[in-house]
Amino acid sequence: MIRFEGVNKWFGKLHVLRDVDGEVARGQVIVLCGRSGSGKSTLIRAVNRLEPIQKGRITVDGADVAATADINRLRSGIGFVFQQFNLFPHLSVLQNVTLAPRRLRGVPAREADALALDLLAKVGLAEKASAFPNQLSGGQRQRVAIARALAMRPPLMLFDEPTSALDPEMVGEVLSVMRSLADEGMTMMCVTHEMGFAEEVADEVWFMDAGSIIEKAPPKQFFGAPEHPRLQSFLKEIL
Ligand code: ADP
Ligand code: MG
Repeated sequence: MIRFEGVNKWFGKLHVLRDVDGEVARGQVIVLCGRSGSGKSTLIRAVNRLEPIQKGRITVDGADVAATADINRLRSGIGFVFQQFNLFPHLSVLQNVTLAPRRLRGVPAREADALALDLLAKVGLAEKASAFPNQLSGGQRQRVAIARALAMRPPLMLFDEPTSALDPEMVGEVLSVMRSLADEGMTMMCVTHEMGFAEEVADEVWFMDAGSIIEKAPPKQFFGAPEHPRLQSFLKEIL
């Protein structure tokens, strides 16, 4: 589904992605972790070309991301959930979720509403369809953001620290929505510091350090028998 081949990126002189290789197979859940500033967001943003790369190649479903002429089409096929759930404050929850399918795909209102209500039920917010974002908790808003991303029926979902801005008591409800997506077979690449989620849900955990992915392993091995000294010290600090 995603292939990274010798990916390199610089911000000016700062070399932020260094020879990144990797594959995310269809239906797989990859958790990407590492210290702040190691390049996780840059890598995940490069997948839908929010960040251009200077060397190497990223393909999504076989198509070279850099060569894709229709950037909107590429992006609308990839669900992206950020740390900050930028819902439109003047639109209801239902309108937030139906906006992209209606505007970008021309889905008729009734059909878009029906799908949105299904998705809101799935994230446990069916009863909030007519609420406005400022009437919701942070965890609820982030679940709406997930429903909104799913409304375009993307085959691939990217998450960049979706729970980092939430109060601790709301982290679980968002992770549980992500877990059910994974159970349904969604292909997912998730940047998160939630190591419990990584341990239980990830097929593979990738550790990024100074722009390089220096370890990739199934969670059992990643947490139980980390090889790289830098990963060992990272895990000691956070666990
Ligand atoms: P992470 O998500 O792992 O915290 P980022 O991918 O955000 O790391 O950042 C990687 C490096 O690139 C950091 O050194 C960061 O300061 C730098 N960086 C990120 N975005 C920009 C930008 N738009 N311009 C310049 N430097 C940036
Ligand atoms: Mg980041």
